[in-house]
Amino acid sequence: MSPIEVLNRASLSQALKTLAGLYEHSDWIIQRALAYRPFVSVAALQHTLQKVVQQASQDEQLALIRAHPALIGKIKIDTSIAPDSQNEQSLIGLDRCSPAEYRSLDELNDAYNKKFGWPFILAVKGPRTKGLTRLQIIDALTRRLTSPSQTEFHECLLQIHRIAQLRLQERLDEPSIRGQRVWDDCETLAQHSEAPDQLTVTFLSPAHRACARHIVSLFEAAGFDSTTIDALGNVVGRYAPKQQDAPYLLTGSHYDTVKNAGKYDGRLGIAVPIEVVRGLAQSGKRLPFGIEVIAFAAEEGVRFGTTFFGSSALAGCFQAQWLALRDSQGVALQDALKAAGLPGSLASVQALARDPKRYLGFVQIAIEQGAVLSHNGLALGIVNTFNASMRYQLRLIGQASHAWTTPMRERRDTVCAAAEITLALEALASQTAHCLASVVPYSALDYNLNTVPDVSQLSIDLRAPNNAKRDELTAQFKQALGQICQRRGIAYSLCEVSQTSAVSCDQTLQRLWATALTALGLPLWHLPSGADHEAMNMHKCMPQAMLFVRGESQGISHNPLESTTCEDMAMAVAAFDKFCDELALSLASMEIVHGKT
Ligand SMILES: [Zn+2]
Repeated sequence: MSPIEVLNRASLSQALKTLAGLYEHSDWIIQRALAYRPFVSVAALQHTLQKVVQQASQDEQLALIRAHPALIGKIKIDTSIAPDSQNEQSLIGLDRCSPAEYRSLDELNDAYNKKFGWPFILAVKGPRTKGLTRLQIIDALTRRLTSPSQTEFHECLLQIHRIAQLRLQERLDEPSIRGQRVWDDCETLAQHSEAPDQLTVTFLSPAHRACARHIVSLFEAAGFDSTTIDALGNVVGRYAPKQQDAPYLLTGSHYDTVKNAGKYDGRLGIAVPIEVVRGLAQSGKRLPFGIEVIAFAAEEGVRFGTTFFGSSALAGCFQAQWLALRDSQGVALQDALKAAGLPGSLASVQALARDPKRYLGFVQIAIEQGAVLSHNGLALGIVNTFNASMRYQLRLIGQASHAWTTPMRERRDTVCAAAEITLALEALASQTAHCLASVVPYSALDYNLNTVPDVSQLSIDLRAPNNAKRDELTAQFKQALGQICQRRGIAYSLCEVSQTSAVSCDQTLQRLWATALTALGLPLWHLPSGADHEAMNMHKCMPQAMLFVRGESQGISHNPLESTTCEDMAMAVAAFDKFCDELALSLASMEIVHGKT
């Protein structure tokens, strides 16, 4: 019997005893959660515990936060701390601080208590359960001290759930070995970088080439049957099907990064399938379809300014003129390819286009890059659509005049107009669920404080879950723009830069993800993807569906703070395993329908 089955069958008092202390001095959470027995899995129990806290009153939530001990310094070992907490804090050596570290922690801790009125709570075992360093703890405390109270209240509850998750795992579950391997693969891959103290890997740089070689070695060690680096630098690993001519399931993500990136954007979608194939290879299991994993060489577009080279080649829509694109040093893409030992010809890139008839579809795993899953206490979510988008360059033209003599009402100030337009867009996008508007001052023209600025330029990006909502938002924006500029005496030119349509993920593949999540005891949550991913491009040639993995730290991405836990990574591996099993079953039933055996 599995530990969860034992818990399901135990008497109430025995079950309470098993789970007592998961939440610091707050066993009322356990009591309420146990009313929902039986649980399908440990993950289902965890989600129920979170829901109990979510549904509790604000006073109960605050009492839960206040029931936690403050982080302790070298001398202040408090014997009143619950035994679990004491172990967790010793693990990372908080009782062995240097005097400077001790002072930092002590001062920050005091400031935190004064500002928020509750203790700073951090799951000190960290996302890999090896323990955070003292410096990481001080950094987290410093950063969170600047948060608004409401955000921090929520963050504390998330940290409390993380602490409870790890305690529960120790008592009921196996450690997340498979998630730890995914974590470690991402960690070792992040050793290659163009910049000494940050992760930056741009297309075809030496660090990028080193990454490609590293991924080859990961594929080989995991037990893929073949591994190649193709004409664009994509690394392709294939795990063969049971029968030679069977179709393949395509999956993967990119290994290039933005400047000063996080370690999981793109790479998680490579490391999870590697772990899935590792599991299959270790048990000698072959599926009725093959698995082809692509580590795409170029998605971010940092070096040549254009995104999705890798998936465009596979989807058969790589544009010939891209080979002439130049980087900031004047190097053309085709020459950069040749310098990296690749052919650099159009024919070699066009030959990478996949024949859709040989594939069952494309699935992609990615860190959410947002906070929806985290806010809802969910490890995984199924992407249903990719947002439609619209991009503009806006140029505002007013009148330069002396700032110390021109009365406020007579000014034609483009900075004030830009600010009003930005706020109007914020209000418009906030009115509709899932709509987003972002504004960046495109060129900050050089002004002195003694001149009213007469020219401002803005980049504007609008996103909506479908084309109709995007068009509605666009029309409202144009109306507001016209009104604001007329009132302020500002002329403008609005130039459309790009427009993309919303893309729906394949229903059948989404259903397979849903079946997989349900089997794991995870609640179903469908969400649109705000960011673009390879799946959106692959949609042009085959059915596709994506699975999002929860991000920590409010879902921050394109930033070193980007983080997810090895438990959530393990959940993604388990979901992918189940997805493959379900896909195999559905193929078998299709064969029965078609009279094959
Ligand atoms: Zn990215």
